[in-house]
Amino acid sequence: MDETSPQYAECVLCRKPTEYPESVEGAVYCPVCEWQEAQRTACSG
Ligand SMILES: [Zn+2]
Repeated sequence: MDETSPQYAECVLCRKPTEYPESVEGAVYCPVCEWQEAQRTACSG
């Protein structure tokens, strides 16, 4: 088992590791922030 550094991108909001790989492009959110962003979008307008 190799536990050097997690190969997951950091959440752009809370800096926690996300479920996405570091190589993913653009902003990524952890499950919590992703859910919150979805709620915000759903409530806007
Ligand atoms: Zn987050």
